[in-house]
Amino acid sequence: MVVLLLIGVALIAYLAYRYQTLTVGGAWMAFLVGMVIALSFSYKGLIILALFFIGSTIFGRLPARTFEREKETRTAGQVFANGGVAALLAISGLLFADDELARIMFISALAAANSDTWATEGGKRWGGRPYHIRTSNRTTTGRSGAISPIGTLFAFIGSAFIAVFGSFLFLNGDWVVLILIAGFAGAMADTVIGAYLQEERQCEYCNTLTEEKNHCGHNTRIIRGVPGVDNNKVNVACTIVSPMFAMIIFLLV
Ligand SMILES: [Zn+2]
Repeated sequence: MVVLLLIGVALIAYLAYRYQTLTVGGAWMAFLVGMVIALSFSYKGLIILALFFIGSTIFGRLPARTFEREKETRTAGQVFANGGVAALLAISGLLFADDELARIMFISALAAANSDTWATEGGKRWGGRPYHIRTSNRTTTGRSGAISPIGTLFAFIGSAFIAVFGSFLFLNGDWVVLILIAGFAGAMADTVIGAYLQEERQCEYCNTLTEEKNHCGHNTRIIRGVPGVDNNKVNVACTIVSPMFAMIIFLLV
């Protein structure tokens, strides 16, 4: 059974690389994350991971009128930023005595990653011009720290999607609301950290604000934020906040 699952994980990682959804490093990282989750939570863990991975990939490739869609090939760092914490929680799930809490935390980490991804994709497509939470001004779509009502609604739906499936697969339908709120809180933490701490860069050539180190073939320079705090680190924080939030509430009630 486990061997079959691992072959399946390897196949999906390879196909993702083959169709340029992942770089070579990204495919290896996806294989590692999938392997650990398969060993800890068997096919149920992989179903949740697949719901997140396939859903986000399809969502990211939907047509959009409002912005230039770059065909993004995800790196190892980006894969870890979204699934790494869930994989580490899956390992710790093998060690913890209270495995219900371990399962809640695992699902919460993926709910946060999904929430953040759907908020970004939905907000960029249908959110109109968002507000920036630090400056309270309207800002460009997709910018870190940007927030819109539609994006926030998608954050809620994205978290609920994983919370519902995860709860029914792992927890007999319990803890849906806790996981939903935890995932949503993770996505909101992502926005706050993205607004106040994440480094912001500006293209030296065309002055566009960006998160990338390069833009239109030119270097970008840091104009604010904490150097080194990039989008991947903010995403890792998002997937840590959610399971921590879930754990605290779980232990309180
Ligand atoms: Zn540029």
